[in-house]
Amino acid sequence: MGAMSKKPKEICKWEKGSFDKQMDQLFPIVRDPKFACKTCGRVASARKYLCKALKLPVPSD
Ligand SMILES: [Zn+2]
Repeated sequence: MGAMSKKPKEICKWEKGSFDKQMDQLFPIVRDPKFACKTCGRVASARKYLCKALKLPVPSD
């Protein structure tokens, strides 16, 4: 135990099933998404959280 305590920053690299245990870390990342990952389809507030970040279009309205 303890070896897995440090997770990669990219939510793309998180293991399937680990999100449930780390919602407190995930929420601030996905709450106000500015980027989407074009490989994984995930969204995040900063490109550093994604492996292939693509800036989301800003709504004109
Ligand atoms: Zn990705």
